[in-house]
Amino acid sequence: MEPQLRRPTRRACERCGRVERWDEDATTWVVTSEDGDKLVGSPYCIHEWDINGRFAPFEEPA
Ligand SMILES: [Zn+2]
Repeated sequence: MEPQLRRPTRRACERCGRVERWDEDATTWVVTSEDGDKLVGSPYCIHEWDINGRFAPFEEPA
């Protein structure tokens, strides 16, 4: 039995503003577009994703 994973579906970089969403079909992160602009952020950024802390990889025991 695999543990029940709770995946984030969106993540944003706190440093450069890159925003990605989880693509279930491609099983990878893809850059999000907003108003026709791709929120790619900086290619030189060591991305600091804001999902840390709000995202627990495993369900907390009730
Ligand atoms: Zn970044």
